[in-house]
Amino acid sequence: MSEVERLDSPSASNEEGVNNFDESPFFKYHHQKSIENHDSKYIFQNLHQEEETTLDQPPSHPTALSSLQETYTSEPTVEHDAAITAELCELYVHLQKCLDLREKYMRLSCQRLEDDPKNKPDWKIYPPPPPASWPPPPKEEHEAMKQKEKEREADPVGAVGSDFNFEDCAIPGKHQYTFGMNDEGFYQVYKTEQDKEQDRPLCHVPYRKEFYEDMDFVLTTISDGPAKSFAFRRLRYLDSSWQMYILLNEFQEMADSKRVSHRDFYNVRKVDTHIHHSSCMNQKHLLRFIKSKMKKSPEAHKDSFHRFDKFNLKYNPIGESRLREIFMKTDNYVQGKYLAEITKEVVSDLESSKYQFVEYRVSIYGRSKSEWDKLAKWVVNNKLFSHNVRWLIQVPRLYNIYKSSGIIKNFEDVIQNLFEPLFEVTQDPSSHPELHVFLQRVIGFDSVDDESKPERRTFKKYPKPSEWDFKSNPPYSYYIYYTYANVAALNNWRVARGFNTFVLRPHCGEAGDTEHLTAAFLGSFGISHGILLRKVPALQYLYYLAQIGIAMSPLSNNALFLTYERNPLPQFFQRGLNISLSTDDPLQFHFTKEPLIEEYSVAAQIWKFSSTDMWHWLGHKWAQGINDVHRTNVPDLRIKYRQDTLRNELATLQRYVAYDKQTKHEEKMNMTLHDTVGLAGFAEPAKLQHHIHHDQHDTTTTTNDEAPKEDLHYLAAFPGAALAAERAKRKLSESGRSEEQQHSDH
Ligand SMILES: [Zn+2]
Repeated sequence: MSEVERLDSPSASNEEGVNNFDESPFFKYHHQKSIENHDSKYIFQNLHQEEETTLDQPPSHPTALSSLQETYTSEPTVEHDAAITAELCELYVHLQKCLDLREKYMRLSCQRLEDDPKNKPDWKIYPPPPPASWPPPPKEEHEAMKQKEKEREADPVGAVGSDFNFEDCAIPGKHQYTFGMNDEGFYQVYKTEQDKEQDRPLCHVPYRKEFYEDMDFVLTTISDGPAKSFAFRRLRYLDSSWQMYILLNEFQEMADSKRVSHRDFYNVRKVDTHIHHSSCMNQKHLLRFIKSKMKKSPEAHKDSFHRFDKFNLKYNPIGESRLREIFMKTDNYVQGKYLAEITKEVVSDLESSKYQFVEYRVSIYGRSKSEWDKLAKWVVNNKLFSHNVRWLIQVPRLYNIYKSSGIIKNFEDVIQNLFEPLFEVTQDPSSHPELHVFLQRVIGFDSVDDESKPERRTFKKYPKPSEWDFKSNPPYSYYIYYTYANVAALNNWRVARGFNTFVLRPHCGEAGDTEHLTAAFLGSFGISHGILLRKVPALQYLYYLAQIGIAMSPLSNNALFLTYERNPLPQFFQRGLNISLSTDDPLQFHFTKEPLIEEYSVAAQIWKFSSTDMWHWLGHKWAQGINDVHRTNVPDLRIKYRQDTLRNELATLQRYVAYDKQTKHEEKMNMTLHDTVGLAGFAEPAKLQHHIHHDQHDTTTTTNDEAPKEDLHYLAAFPGAALAAERAKRKLSESGRSEEQQHSDH
């Protein structure tokens, strides 16, 4: 790279890039490159030249190298500087506030793991889960298990759900609490009729206004230019720290996991965290199934299948609407018999594999209140119960379609159709007994549709659902908020009744606006996809700190939005984001009977993941400090690394928050080197760096005459620190100076 290029590119990228950079939360490609190519080397080099002019004065600070060596070998602290500390405080306080906001939404909606009665030791479920096969059970029990397994092997498909009898399900009675739609457009729960009249609900759920204010706060925090650069550098620090860990420990890790004799990749439990039920089978399976149905009952179905031979499954597996209606829907004229049959076949494969589990998405559209009962009856009557299967409810964002066809008047109708049956069944399970039983296997809600559809923000303040009677679809965040608010109230009631609760796990960040990822950051337990986080470093850092689960499907992304090699999964993984691998849509994207294994296998081959890495994804409870190497095969060493790294980041935030809370900042903040990682980012955008270098001689631009000289010594020890200090001082003095004046300086 030539000298000219090196000096030019930061300022060249300024002209328009910097302005965009500050307005949008996205992180521009050329900024990333600018940081990677120049970074502190560039800064250091420029300032080093200036330092030569002051060489005749003996330096009062230690030189760069010796100071760094000292800090590494003894106490890893850097000298206190009030301006830098103030800058760090501001940023850390904002980041911590974002985390606190999320915590508030999770707590109020009972979405935390510890809130769910299902996660308590006294939780009872019918039929009971099979006994643990490790450590080996007593002899009689072992014999019984063997016998059962023999029966299952004799008729694997028939065995699915064979231990389930609806008559044996306990259906609790009516509860004294009541519920109703409040003025904000979501259901609330009340202890008595009197409470309802006086609008005193069981639990507090934030209103729409509060949600949008909180979302704006997070959006403002993550779009701040310096915050973006700061977060980007901290994420890079996590990358490097991971590489260092691996280089030091890979041998020990291998040795540790080899010591667990009975575990290999195949017999560690794997959960497909994102898969749509209607395409859970592969193409070959579906084809075979349709053919066999045609053979067995040709006269009844010939009519439906006559186009089958021409039907190009490979490119349009569900494009023929009639075939789709017959095979893929749960409420068609044979009551979803075919879909239930093929589901049992797929589930029997899962049960045979023993270690594969799925979380199937099934649709509730919100077109009518009867949808829930139909779906629940389909599951119950077809005995689609398996310990390898859990359900998530996917709600397509199709208000505008229903509105244009006249099925509904306004958005409140959709909310009523979606949630009223859930409040009814929670109040009195005997009013919808099948639904009550089905809901015990439901984990939560997903929100689906094409995220790349443009959303125009036409409102400064969004109207409430009863007033949303426009032709246009509400934005993503509005769907998320109303799902959140209703689920929050419902969950509080379900906790009071000892019923399992639900979480939000929408499709999010596959495409579209950053607002999607921000809304989900506040209201959702986890998300699917999240690939756009790669462009929003500050939000990515927050997702890391909050350990929000991200179900990633690189093979699906590869077909639709992002080529495989550009998928951010390996980077998210090494940084320590809470990711899992999932298939999304095996009918379209996978070829084998074990699509999840296929997904793992491709990832391992392309990205050269070690077997420990692959287990690592599965040992997802590490953030809670739980690891059973006998189950997960993840060495404790690695779990400890992940915990320590996360703890360090969180502790830094909290230290600065605590310092900021002191009314008088009399005591010096003990800054460690670790705190200062990313500080150079404060000097972003590059325009500012450029000006700092040129303004060194221009005493009119600084309030403090001694400052520049002192900074030069600082720069020798840590370039970013001085720039940060300079930025803070500028903030104070700059109020009168316009951007134009800055430009005219040279
Ligand atoms: Zn999906």
